Amino acid sequence: MPEQLPEKLLAVLQLAQRFVASEIVPRNERLAHDETLAALGAEVREAAKAAGFFYKTQPAEFGGSPAGTLELTMLREYWASLNSELTRFIFGPGPGVLHEATGELATQFLIPVMAGEKRGAFGFTEPDNAPRPTWAVLTHDELTLNGQKSYVTGGETADFLSILVNVEDADGAKLGTAMVVVDRKADGVILEDTFRSMEGGGHGAFRFDAVKVPSWQMIGKLGEGMPRALANIGNVRLMVAAEAMGMSLWTLDYLNQHLLAPHRTGSPLGDKEGVRLRYADLRIQAFAGRSVLYRAARRADGPGNSVNEVIAAKVFCTEVAGTIVDWAVQLVGGQALVVGHPLEALYRRVRSLRLVEGANDLLRLNLAKGNLELGKGDL
Ligand SMILES: Cc1cc2nc3c(=O)[nH]c(=O)nc-3n(C[C@H](O)[C@H](O)[C@H](O)COP(=O)(O)OP(=O)(O)OC[C@H]3O[C@@H](n4cnc5c(N)ncnc54)[C@H](O)[C@@H]3O)c2cc1C
Repeated sequence: MPEQLPEKLLAVLQLAQRFVASEIVPRNERLAHDETLAALGAEVREAAKAAGFFYKTQPAEFGGSPAGTLELTMLREYWASLNSELTRFIFGPGPGVLHEATGELATQFLIPVMAGEKRGAFGFTEPDNAPRPTWAVLTHDELTLNGQKSYVTGGETADFLSILVNVEDADGAKLGTAMVVVDRKADGVILEDTFRSMEGGGHGAFRFDAVKVPSWQMIGKLGEGMPRALANIGNVRLMVAAEAMGMSLWTLDYLNQHLLAPHRTGSPLGDKEGVRLRYADLRIQAFAGRSVLYRAARRADGPGNSVNEVIAAKVFCTEVAGTIVDWAVQLVGGQALVVGHPLEALYRRVRSLRLVEGANDLLRLNLAKGNLELGKGDL
């Protein structure tokens, strides 16, 4: 649990709290007074570089000073507990699926991404009605891509897409999966639809119509596509779990104030036993969620496989956060449903967490498989 953090991490948390007081809180005020998110975000980014937080998600070879999983989890939970749009500018971009890219792929994509000059989007999910999953025919030094990706977050404005494809030779023989980097403006890359999801994200649906891509734009070796696409997924799932618990903490603080405030019945809602029972349940669930989160983070930093523990944290924490925000809406009442109320926005954001980075029921199936068939994780 957070109270058993090593002294070194508690010192980092204190630095983070000072950073928030001097760099985030005043800008939250300015954001409320109509200054743009982009301009304020750029200022936060510069401040985060000066304070060193920006580099904690970046590998050392790019000038980063990468933090361990427990430290990142603690900070991610803390940023999310502030419920501010500005905290997402604090950490610098990580390499994602481009990690270990070399040669031309590093020069043209990885290095510009780490410097914040280029941005990629991730194409994995396929439409339900696709005639066949996205595929590429490899001839000599070139891939010819065809297919569709239905849910590419940030795809409309990205410089390139990293997509999972099934590769075959000119005779149709299967060669394996690959992650391939495709320039978003390449001939044959068609943005068929753009849409927004309820938590506020913008997404694109893409079609690939005989797109020619040089084979060096394949990340790693042929056959490594699926493991590469999923290589970083453990970190991302723990990140989702940390955000879920941070949102829960903000919600419980908000609820606290509401339950202690005057109410038209003559006494604060927090005086009523029925309300106290619900409130205590939410506190118990937050305690349990944070215990799972911090235990999984410690496991991920240690030796051995922690895939099942991380899945457990993602599933449990996102569902706990859903329950906490849902009950907070109920206890705050109709005003919480008014568009623009912080709980209305949080309700939409927290709902998407149960689908992103693996739908929770599919993760349950993965856990059962890891446990029953593969012997992975101790859970
Ligand atoms: C905000 C947001 C951002 C996203 N960004 C991206 C992105 O950048 N790139 C990308 O590639 N994708 C992205 N996605 C897509 C996301 O990864 C998928 O929505 C998610 O993996 C679920 O896939 P699906 O929508 O095809 O649903 P399905 O796979 O059709 O599943 C729907 C539901 O059916 C049930 N189900 C499905 N299969 C089984 C089974 N075998 N057994 C039991 N139950 C089952 C589960 O309850 C599941 O929740 C994003 C989604 C969201 C919400």
